[in-house]
Amino acid sequence: MILPPAVLGLLGGGQLGRYFTLSARTMGYRVWVLDPDPHSPAGGLADRHLCAEFDDPAALRELAEHASVVTCEFENVPAASAEWLAAHALLRPDPRALAIAQDRIEEKRFLEQADVAVAPWLPIERLDAMRELPPEWPFPAILKTARLGYDGKGQVPVRSAADIAPAFRALGEVPCVLEQRIDLEREVSVVLARDPEGRSRAFPVSENVHRGGILHLSRVPARVDANIRAQAEAVAQHVAERLEYCGVLAVEFFVTSGGDLLVNEIAPRPHNSGHYTLDAVSVSQFEQQVRAVCGLALAPAELTAPVAMLNLLGELWPEDRPMPDFSHLLGHGRARLHLYGKPDPRPGRKMGHINVLGAPGEGEASQPVRLAETLWSTLRVQAGLEGS
Ligand code: ATP
Ligand code: MG
Repeated sequence: MILPPAVLGLLGGGQLGRYFTLSARTMGYRVWVLDPDPHSPAGGLADRHLCAEFDDPAALRELAEHASVVTCEFENVPAASAEWLAAHALLRPDPRALAIAQDRIEEKRFLEQADVAVAPWLPIERLDAMRELPPEWPFPAILKTARLGYDGKGQVPVRSAADIAPAFRALGEVPCVLEQRIDLEREVSVVLARDPEGRSRAFPVSENVHRGGILHLSRVPARVDANIRAQAEAVAQHVAERLEYCGVLAVEFFVTSGGDLLVNEIAPRPHNSGHYTLDAVSVSQFEQQVRAVCGLALAPAELTAPVAMLNLLGELWPEDRPMPDFSHLLGHGRARLHLYGKPDPRPGRKMGHINVLGAPGEGEASQPVRLAETLWSTLRVQAGLEGS
């Protein structure tokens, strides 16, 4: 076991890292964060912020020298940095998991080899790859860059074969995947933690609603039957096993209109759809990440109340004041406000979230969802985004 006051190294200093830092420091660990952003949400709360690029040799050396274990909150760490860290320190998860999760082509190949169902797809790595497109390819589709996409960025809808070349050019002629647009019944995700011995614990399945490619709302319990729930958990466990994973892993799923479960993508870190665990589960995904990478016993992860998590994006921030007026929201005892301390709000930027809790015995999350949406509308009206 890695015990306090050991130094834990963290690659990435965003909001996911901020909560990891808080959890670890609460437990008496010290945290060193590597992130190039001088205002990174985690950097300011860490014991040390190495403000440098992810491939900065001196910063990587410092991390390796001081940290008992290094983990991540950001999967796009350059492969060479991950390999170097794994050779000179303890990196959890290991470079293979990062390499797979940061490239959609690698990710889909890995999932298929692991017998996990994914949406029909094809790699499109060159402009002439379309010639290999089977005539019966199931349009409509989406062309997605293989690397560096997030929050729906790097994606172009494609209605027919004729759209592929312009879409490929629009995305900068980088390696892409063509993916069938799935007729969705809903989206769900599973976040789990797996320790160095291979023991794992999954958090309750979350149901996720996106707006404009960005996660808007998660509700737990998810409205899926016991069969889908069990299948999602089993697939997530299976993916973690096949990766020989250590740490916190998120698996995003599509539930198709036909009732099939497909994996959309995986994230080798805590996940936005797991933020509900901060207020509505017996342990948060962030404490569980500390526990997993340090080899401590994983805590039971039981839902304590039905919950709705809603993201607060930059467009809610007024131009003439530092913050929206949260007095209405904070007048509700069941609404928990989380802000990430980001200095520069931009439309689409995740600035914070709220967790709205239901009564413990309630079962369904309908009431928390309604209150979360009402609070959100109020903030939108305030920001001039919709009429009252
Ligand atoms: P993030 O990193 O925020 O999870 P991302 O940029 O990696 O997002 P995806 O997860 O691939 O992107 O897509 C974002 C959302 O767009 C999905 O959650 C889903 O709502 C929609 N979407 C993506 N691919 C498909 C598809 N093949 N069929 C239907 N909807 C899709
Ligand atoms: Mg996604």
